[in-house]
Amino acid sequence: MGNTGPAELLAIWEAGLAHHGPGRALLLHRAARPETAADELLSLPVGEREADLYALRRALFGERMQIRAECGACGEAMEFDLDARDLGVRPGERDGPLRVEEGEWTIEFRLPTVADVEAAAQAAAEAGGRLGVGADSGVGADVDSGAYRDVGVGADSGAYGDVGVGADSGAYGTGGVGVDSGAYGDSGAYGDSASDSHRAEAEREPIATATATATATATATARARRALLARCIVSAHRSGRPIPADRLPAAELPEPVRRRLAEAAERADPAADVTLNVACPECGEATRAELDIASYLWAELDHWARDLLLDVHLLATAYGWSEPQILALSPLRRRYYLELCADG
Ligand SMILES: [Zn+2]
Repeated sequence: MGNTGPAELLAIWEAGLAHHGPGRALLLHRAARPETAADELLSLPVGEREADLYALRRALFGERMQIRAECGACGEAMEFDLDARDLGVRPGERDGPLRVEEGEWTIEFRLPTVADVEAAAQAAAEAGGRLGVGADSGVGADVDSGAYRDVGVGADSGAYGDVGVGADSGAYGTGGVGVDSGAYGDSGAYGDSASDSHRAEAEREPIATATATATATATATARARRALLARCIVSAHRSGRPIPADRLPAAELPEPVRRRLAEAAERADPAADVTLNVACPECGEATRAELDIASYLWAELDHWARDLLLDVHLLATAYGWSEPQILALSPLRRRYYLELCADG
C-alpha cells in the first residue's frame, strides 16, 4: 500500500486542501497505487479506483466504516456501520467493448473511466447545475453512471452483525456483513489512533459522507449520465446500419436502450457506484444514499490529520521534540506520552 506513513499521509492531506472532489480523489488514488502514473490512474474504470480506495481505507482505518445519513422522509439521523471488505468489487478483465442489443439498436461501449466521469461532471456543471450533494468536499466526481448497485442496509445503529448488505440485483456482493470482533490487528494502521482515546471528546464522530440523493441534482445527474454515455459508446448500429458515434446524441437513444446500457455497465463494474438503501428505524421509509468512497476517505483523512497535528503540537510543547521526531513515534507511544502529559 505504498507511501502511507504518517509524514506521507500528512503531505497528501496538505496537498489535498488545495483541491476539491476529483483532485482529492486522484491524490488518494496515487497514495493507494504510488507505482502507477497519474494518467494511467485516470484511464482506469471507475470501479477499479473505488476498489483501490476501499483497500487503502481498510489499510489505514480498518474495515468498519461508520456511515451517517438522514432519512429523506422524516429527517431522522441514521447511523450504521458497513464492512469495507464487502464493497469495492473490482471489474472483471475483458477484451473488447461491452455490447447491448435492444430493439433495433446494437451498441458497443466501454466502461466509464475516472476521466470520463470527471469530464461528464464538468460538462454537466457547465450546462448548469452542480453535481453531488452534501459532503464538504464537493462531490465533483460523483456522477452516478447508471442505476448501479443497490446495497440494502438495515439502519439499526446498535447491532453491527445483522446489517444486511447484499446487492438487490442478485448477482453481486451478496452475503452478510462480517462482524469484526474488534481485534486489534484489523483496525487498520490508524484506526486506533492516539487522539481517539486521550481526548475528552473521545467519542469519534462518524464520518458522514453517504449523501442522500436530492431532487435538485437529479437533472444535473441525468445530464451527466448522458454525457458519460456519449463518451463511452464505441459503435452504434440501428437496424444494422452504422451510426457514427459523433452523430449519436445519447439523449436520443430510447430509454430502454439507455437502461440496458446502464445495467450492462453495472454488471461489468459493480463498484463504480455504491448506493445504500437505508430503511429508517423511525418511520420505516427507505432512503437512497450514495456512498462516495473518495469523499468519505478524504473526510476521514482530514479528521485524522487535524488530530495528529494537535498531538504534534502538544508533544512539541511538552518535550521540545520536532515534528519528524514525533511522527516517527508509533501511535501507541504517542498516546502514552500524551497520557503522561495529561497526568502531569
Ligand atoms: Zn424516517
